[in-house]
Amino acid sequence: MNILFMGPPGAGKGTQAERIVEEFGIPHISTGDAFRLAMKQETPLGLKAKEYVDQGLLVPDEITNGIVKERLALDDCNKGFLLDGFPRTLQQAEALDVMLSELNRGIDRVVNLKVDRGLLLARLTGRRICKACGSTYHVMFNAPKQEGVCDKCGGELYQRSDDTEEKVGTRLDEYISKTAPLLDYYSGKGLLCEVDGEKEIDTVTSEIVSCLKGSL
Ligand code: ADP
Ligand code: AMP
Repeated sequence: MNILFMGPPGAGKGTQAERIVEEFGIPHISTGDAFRLAMKQETPLGLKAKEYVDQGLLVPDEITNGIVKERLALDDCNKGFLLDGFPRTLQQAEALDVMLSELNRGIDRVVNLKVDRGLLLARLTGRRICKACGSTYHVMFNAPKQEGVCDKCGGELYQRSDDTEEKVGTRLDEYISKTAPLLDYYSGKGLLCEVDGEKEIDTVTSEIVSCLKGSL
């Protein structure tokens, strides 16, 4: 199954993606994770991406499209994939259509996680991520058993440098002006599934699974 996860920063895409890829046995492709890895390794891509990521701005389309195109061509995507955080502009959505048609593939479902802006700020500033395995926590809403330590692998938890109040504002503005219009694009194609992302994590997972397994 070929799935896209949409929704503003902090809507729960990464949290739900961890669970859905396990259920469907498909790879999780997050452009945000790809940029963070390249930034950590200080590759040419990472250094370029950092100029934008650090300001809370979207990385230019030609850079972002290139990494997705390379990733989708790998063999593990033959059984399907979950794209999280891509596309984020109309140009990226159109480029994705071309990439997939070249691979004789299509999109099966676009899941949109809906969460109000007021809640997103609290979710993002309290987010913590495992340095070792990438699992996502929240200091209040989804706290690890031991503060600062990953339940799954014992790794150290850290806070993303763009999860500050100041950068979250820019990121949400980028989402509203450039990404939210894509919902009409996918709804027009009859692929959109709206899910209330404000509910409990387990409830959101069940609603996504029924949307993916049910008919549109
Ligand atoms: P995104 O990938 O969309 O940016 P995340 O999955 O990283 O969002 O979630 C943002 C923060 O909100 C994380 O700290 C996560 O633990 C928390 N979170 C995710 N889903 C829920 C939920 N349904 N209820 C409460 N907190 C949540
Ligand atoms: P995320 O982890 O999805 O919150 O993304 C973190 C940051 O990576 C974003 O604020 C952007 O700077 C960059 N980024 C991730 N995905 C994209 C994308 N599809 N297009 C442009 N920039 C992106």
